[in-house]
Amino acid sequence: MTSFVFVPVTAADLGMFALLAGLGLVHAEVTRKIERIRRSLSVTPYINMTSVWMLPAALLLPMPLVPVLSCVLYLHLAFRRRMRRVAPHRTITNASTTSMASFASLLALHLVAGPVALTSSDVDTTTLAIFAAVAAYFVVDALITVIALYFAAPEKATARSLLGSFEDNALELTNLCLGALLLAALLFAPALSAAIFFPMFVLQKAVLAKQLEELASKDQKTGLLNSVAWHSSGNNELSRAGRTGAAFSVLMIDLDYFKKINDTFGHLAGDDMLIALADLLKRETRSHDLVGRFGGEEFVVLLAGSGEADALVAAERIRHQITEMVVQSRMNDGSPVTIADRSASIGVAAYPASGDTLEEVLAAADAAVYAAKRSGRNRVVGTSISDLVGTPG
Ligand code: GH3
Ligand code: MG
Ligand code: MG
Repeated sequence: MTSFVFVPVTAADLGMFALLAGLGLVHAEVTRKIERIRRSLSVTPYINMTSVWMLPAALLLPMPLVPVLSCVLYLHLAFRRRMRRVAPHRTITNASTTSMASFASLLALHLVAGPVALTSSDVDTTTLAIFAAVAAYFVVDALITVIALYFAAPEKATARSLLGSFEDNALELTNLCLGALLLAALLFAPALSAAIFFPMFVLQKAVLAKQLEELASKDQKTGLLNSVAWHSSGNNELSRAGRTGAAFSVLMIDLDYFKKINDTFGHLAGDDMLIALADLLKRETRSHDLVGRFGGEEFVVLLAGSGEADALVAAERIRHQITEMVVQSRMNDGSPVTIADRSASIGVAAYPASGDTLEEVLAAADAAVYAAKRSGRNRVVGTSISDLVGTPG
């Protein structure tokens, strides 16, 4: 270990450190607003841009300077967010995770091409070694993040909350590739390194645009399509069905006596019931079906390519599964509750039998829900075919 600590640091090393720190700080300042919005919109672990600077730092700087750079970048981020309080342990965890990933990338570089990797005339081996460094950084960073997030809240951990989305991982990998290009610029034409700002800026804006698009199309509570997005995709389906002569059906699902859950157990329990129902609907439908929440406790499903007879069977299966749902939740005071023995009324209507427009089909499904409520709830009611009546629960 001591040999790591007493690595000599030359004036050139300090110059490189200052350049990377300067680039990192200027970039963070210039893109502060974009990153603030990106962070606030992020539902999975937020990926910042620090690896663009840390990868070249890991491979170019003497080891002791690597954690110093990591601390400088993360302290700056924490300081700039001081109004919103970043817990000190978060800064320490982030800075040490980044340092460990950096050391892993250096190790990979040396394993592939030896200690003279970056000055060797064997360009192919150097290139391979840099790719190995990128991979090692990515894997070690992901591994430590997964372990840390899991132990922070094991009960809430899901594959997506730990691993992040495909886009998150693609962004981190893109950052590391930009880091590798920056490394090449720093080795061969340091003045070119300023050019890295432009692709980074465009990348950050593109990622933000994608996040805003998702935000605008999703119901925040359940992750289902919101009304606007459902209608827009529904109208596409209508055009397709109109062109090809195919059918589609709409299921309108309204929980029975949902208000009682709120009144008895509190709003948090009600919310958990809505989230559980959304998950059930996603599980029970195909990826090209449209599952939406228009607000409240009303859910709408468009079954592409299904006529009313098929849709009634699907609705009956869903109705039955809702009666078997068991949802573990908490009262507003934190005490645990189990929600069970619930039911829903489902209205079914089909295109073109129930209408020529999406609104007409929806209105027919809505009328069918009311008919189901009036005739005793916990049942499926169709529009043009005789009704399927569920077992009252
Ligand atoms: P019915 O069987 O006739 O459908 O009775 P209901 O109680 O389900 O229907 P009603 O429309 O009277 O009540 C719906 C309730 O849903 C009222 C509202 O407080 C609650 N609600 C709407 N949105 C949410 C939400 O996002 N979270 C929670 N917890 N409750 C919600
Ligand atoms: Mg209801
Ligand atoms: Mg309702």
